[in-house]
Amino acid sequence: MKQLQFEYIEDASLRQELNRIDRWRENHRVSAILFHVFSDNLEAEKIRHVCSMIEFTLPDSLYTGCTTSGNVMDGRLNKSHITVTCTIFDDPESKVEVIQLPLTEETEPMVSQKMQLIVSERPWVKAIEMLVTIRGLSMTKFCEDLSLLDENIKLFGGGSFSDDLNEVASFVYSSGSECSDHAVVFTLMGGENLHVYSEWVTGWKPLGRKLRITKADHAILQELDNKPAYDIYYKYLNIANDAEFFKHTLEFPFMYKHNGIDILRAPTACNEDGSLVMTADIEEGVEAYMAYGDPWTILEQVNETGERLSVFEPQSIFLYSCAARRAFWGDSGSNRETSPFQDIAPTSGFYTSGEFMRTGAKLNQHNVTLLVAGLREGPISGSMHNFKIKDHKLDGQASLVNRLANFVQAATEELEQTVEMLELSSITDGLTKLYNRSEIQHRITAANNKYSESPDSVKAPSLIMLDIDDFKKVNDTFGHHEGDVVIRKISDIMREQCAKVSEDISIGRWGGEEFMILVPALPFEDVKALAESLRKAFEEEKFDVSGSHTISVGVTTALAGEHVDVFCMRVDDALYEAKKTGKNRIVIK
Ligand code: GH3
Ligand code: MG
Ligand code: MG
Repeated sequence: MKQLQFEYIEDASLRQELNRIDRWRENHRVSAILFHVFSDNLEAEKIRHVCSMIEFTLPDSLYTGCTTSGNVMDGRLNKSHITVTCTIFDDPESKVEVIQLPLTEETEPMVSQKMQLIVSERPWVKAIEMLVTIRGLSMTKFCEDLSLLDENIKLFGGGSFSDDLNEVASFVYSSGSECSDHAVVFTLMGGENLHVYSEWVTGWKPLGRKLRITKADHAILQELDNKPAYDIYYKYLNIANDAEFFKHTLEFPFMYKHNGIDILRAPTACNEDGSLVMTADIEEGVEAYMAYGDPWTILEQVNETGERLSVFEPQSIFLYSCAARRAFWGDSGSNRETSPFQDIAPTSGFYTSGEFMRTGAKLNQHNVTLLVAGLREGPISGSMHNFKIKDHKLDGQASLVNRLANFVQAATEELEQTVEMLELSSITDGLTKLYNRSEIQHRITAANNKYSESPDSVKAPSLIMLDIDDFKKVNDTFGHHEGDVVIRKISDIMREQCAKVSEDISIGRWGGEEFMILVPALPFEDVKALAESLRKAFEEEKFDVSGSHTISVGVTTALAGEHVDVFCMRVDDALYEAKKTGKNRIVIK
């Protein structure tokens, strides 16, 4: 396989390059020639012209392409508006086919169905590149449908764009089809000896505390933690909702887990109600972080990806990188993360409006991400490359940002742990670590209300109340410390015995050495058995200092519609009766 790249400046030089390819194949084996034509502006006439020159000079070749937010040639951002990549497949088994289909909300299901059919008829397909005009289309369903394609087929590609980030129009085009602003071009590649490797790099890191996406609809992010999403940008980053909004938020996209991997979504605009228009669909109900681009991490990840890719020994590399990354690095800086790949193999690609790559079976729509696909024909030689990014130095500013972000992250984690601890200690009792009185009372009330509201569908909750017999004597004879030991022991016994029965039991310290157990949904027979197991287990316990002790127990179950105080009073009565009638026993009411 060979990859040649050239700029289109005027016809004569393009014709020369094309003729060179034509002559080259006279004495070389060629099984397919695939051109990628990338244009960073929307001059459809010019694009058509370049494509027709390719068709004219090399009629049996194929081409695909799209408008972009920047073309990558020889691993670097290229400023001539049109660049051409020519991939020559030389293995006799290799095959390439280009399919362009109209893509709108209506045709989406048909397109994915058609692809199923096409792929099932072409068992040779190993990889599919997808160039697509997204134009505000929700791609979630499309990605899900395409995920059904044979799992062994690699899928990758990008959304067409233009150098003006505010421009909605963009084009894709391919052999035999029109230049279209609502279409998808699939390039099918395969054959026995074609090998494909694909990976993605973000380098963005989570910043600050966890946020829950409490309201979202497709690409509109309405609420975070039940507050307008924009408030977060204003409160934490002081980003105003003005003409520069997109530019400023681009560096701080949201990160969340989708299909098991970290996905980024950046806000592109802010609506009057404080909701944010995101670069693509975002999921309601998930936990998200605000993320920031860390140059060090990015380059480290590029290096790691490069190392893995070099072991694969690609002969041709395609990059699909988000336009946001170009904005993040700046035009010359962006070469830092793309040019290292050129050290491995000829590297071309473009800046996208969305990147697509399959991880496992799932096709995901990425944003703010750099996708890398490597192609090779034939076996690897085994001479492992030792790939390392040459220039790893970054200026002081970048490392300062990195350290500050680390500081924020560490401080946030500490705070989150403290809050968690405070929340826990506000509902638990210090000595026993059981729920405190107010928490168990709260839980009993909630369970009783739930049962009263729908007694037919909810099982009746039950209560077990217990008190250590003659406890004052323990304190008086053996001291307060021994009293505490006994209280802790009965707490452990309750935890152990309840855990054996159900995970859904709440145990609380009602006062002194008096405890209340809420059993939400067990048959009453099981509740009585649990009470007996507690009584017996405690009776059998021998304390080194104070010997053995007993408990008295009251048990009852809720009656539909009764007030929670009546419910609690009845179990208290049962316990009182157990005390009165000789202790170390269970009374059921
Ligand atoms: P009865 O069999 O009727 O329950 O008799 P009793 O002696 O156990 O009486 P009661 O339940 O009223 O006794 C409660 C005692 O528990 C009084 C109090 O000093 C003691 N107590 C309460 N909280 C603690 C504690 O945290 N540690 C210790 N060591 N003792 C406690
Ligand atoms: Mg007692
Ligand atoms: Mg008591």
